[in-house]
Amino acid sequence: MNRISLIAGNWKMYKNITQAIELVSALKRELFFIETQRFEIVVCPPFTALSEVAELLYESNIELGAQNVHWEKEGAFTGEVSILMLKDLGCKYVIVGHSERRTYFGETDEIINKKLKAVLDEGLSPILCVGESLKQREEGLTFKILEEQIYKDLESINFQKVANLVIAYEPVWAIGTGRTATPQIAQEAQAYIRGLLNRIYSEEISQKIRILYGGSVKPENIKELIKQPDIDGALVGGASLDLDSFSSIIKYAYEVKK
Ligand code: PEP
Repeated sequence: MNRISLIAGNWKMYKNITQAIELVSALKRELFFIETQRFEIVVCPPFTALSEVAELLYESNIELGAQNVHWEKEGAFTGEVSILMLKDLGCKYVIVGHSERRTYFGETDEIINKKLKAVLDEGLSPILCVGESLKQREEGLTFKILEEQIYKDLESINFQKVANLVIAYEPVWAIGTGRTATPQIAQEAQAYIRGLLNRIYSEEISQKIRILYGGSVKPENIKELIKQPDIDGALVGGASLDLDSFSSIIKYAYEVKK
C-alpha cells in the first residue's frame, strides 16, 4: 500500500507572529520542490499565529494544522476554539490527544473521542497521539495501553468517517527528552497499532491510515525511522522550531521515500 508520507511540525507554545512568519517564509523557500502527491508537510503553529501563517501558506505545498480543538461547534466555552473556526482559517489537520494535553490538561480518552468525532465530522484530519509512559513500558504494558487508548479514542467512529484519521505513535518517554525510540521499537508498536485498526475496521482501512512516529525526531534519526514499513512519517516537536533541522528532516525523509 502506497501511503503518502507526512511530516508535521508541532510548535507547541513557541513563536510569536513575527517569528512564525519568518520560519514559514523560509520553509516555503527551502521546500518548494516537495511534491504534495507523494509527500505532505504540515505546520501546527499556536492559535495566535494561525491566521498569518494561513495567508502565507495559501496555494503552497505546506498544509496548516492546529494543536487543539473543542468538540462543540460553538457556545459559551471561554478560551476554547471550535473546529468551524479552524476550518474557517484553512486548517486541514488538528493534533488531538497529545500527551501534554492528556497529562497537564486532564484530557481523557472520552474527551479525545469527542474531539476526534468533531474533527472528522467536518472533514478535517485529526492527528491522534497515543503512546505509553516509561513506567508502562518498563512494566511490559505498552501494547495494553495502546489498545486501551485506540479502542476508547475511536469508539463509535465508523469506517466511513475514519478515512481521514492520522495516528501518531508518541511514546511519552521519547517526547522532548532527546531519547528517540529505536526504529525497531517504533516499528513494533506501529505494526501493533495497524493490527488494531485491522481488528476494529478492516485490512483495507488499516492499510490506508497513516501512522507517524513522534518523540525526539531529528535529522540524524529520521532516515532509519521512515524506512520502517509501518512508519509513514513523523510528528516533530522541538526540531520543527528550527529552519535547518525541520527542513533537513523533510528532505531526508523525502529522499528515502522517493
Ligand atoms: C511532540 O511534541 O509531539 C514531540 C514529538 O516533541 P519532540 O519532537 O520535541 O520530542
